[in-house]
Amino acid sequence: MNTLNVLGGADIGGSCYLTELEGVRILFDCGIRMNTPYSEHPEIPSPETIDLIFLSHAHLDHIGAIAYTAAVCRNARIFATPATRDFIRYQLSETVAEYIGADTDALRFSNHLLCQFVLNRIETAEFRERMEIHLASPESGQEADVKFSFFPAGHIPGAAAVYLRIGQRSMLYSGDFYFRPTPLTAPCSLPEGLRPDILLLCGTYANRLRTDKSAPTIASIKDNFACLFRQNRNVLVRCSQLTKGLEMLAMIDDLVREGRLPRIPVFIDESLWQLARHYERTSDFRLPSYMNPLSARNRRNGYGEIVFLSQSAAARTKEFASYTPIDTNFSLHADGQELISYVRNLRPRKVFVVHAAPRSAENTPLADALLEDRICVTYTENERIYSL
Ligand SMILES: [Zn+2]
Ligand SMILES: [Zn+2]
Repeated sequence: MNTLNVLGGADIGGSCYLTELEGVRILFDCGIRMNTPYSEHPEIPSPETIDLIFLSHAHLDHIGAIAYTAAVCRNARIFATPATRDFIRYQLSETVAEYIGADTDALRFSNHLLCQFVLNRIETAEFRERMEIHLASPESGQEADVKFSFFPAGHIPGAAAVYLRIGQRSMLYSGDFYFRPTPLTAPCSLPEGLRPDILLLCGTYANRLRTDKSAPTIASIKDNFACLFRQNRNVLVRCSQLTKGLEMLAMIDDLVREGRLPRIPVFIDESLWQLARHYERTSDFRLPSYMNPLSARNRRNGYGEIVFLSQSAAARTKEFASYTPIDTNFSLHADGQELISYVRNLRPRKVFVVHAAPRSAENTPLADALLEDRICVTYTENERIYSL
């Protein structure tokens, strides 16, 4: 039986999709729901029999439960791009710190060990690298060859679509994807002629084919920043996702280069600072001299500055209560029309929509738009199993 079991993430949050294809058990992502405790995540049935785990990108709704997943899926091989693995290192030390606490040296040490244990389990594959894995189950004696490749999905650095082939069956998991460049990330690009049999589609706007014009965009957030600084405001940027914080740092530097923002001091809390320093070593990104760690902030500064706080420094929010918070909730997802052309280009036999914002029960805009293409579109629900 070839099946898709949506353990979580039919909607946005807790993405975790278990696929059985030609006898191979594959998990795509293992996320948590934002703003819920890190210990709440989808349960994985018979985790010791999972063969492969693919991590599309380092957002918490896709990798937040990686510590639990790596521990219980003890026989699985886990794959991600090198950038995703790197980001997980920093994101994980934040999540695990909150999970087990991090206020003593002993806890910080166990946090460090747990992160190291998880990271050691993650193998990497570069974009477009052709990977081949031979699986042999000692219990059933069953063997299978899995071929897979990661392709750039845009969205955030390292984010990947996963294409895999087992025998005659092929499948693409889109991950979260975005067609426009961001300060740090090139747009989604799949190879010409890619024709997966099954498409597991992160259809964030599958129910809103027209883009929501009220949602902030990178351009509107840049305008907002520039505007606040003309008014000499202090600004607080709270980042629930470290990678979004990194994009914001790059965005501020773009504004400075464009002459729309003076070189005002920017102070960055420890977690984001460490990630930014690491990202400098592995990419073209550079921290400009006006950006410094929060520990270097002199209280007398206090006027016309930007402070970045990530989750682990959330307790310090009160200190900056007088600062103007900025909405960082910009969308990095393909809009409705882009979703339609994404599916049309791939021409899969079946599409399963996951990661979709809510819709009314009888309303299926993406399925309706693709009717004439004879592509079967299923809007999935959590904790349901579908035949592939
Ligand atoms: Zn994402
Ligand atoms: Zn997501």
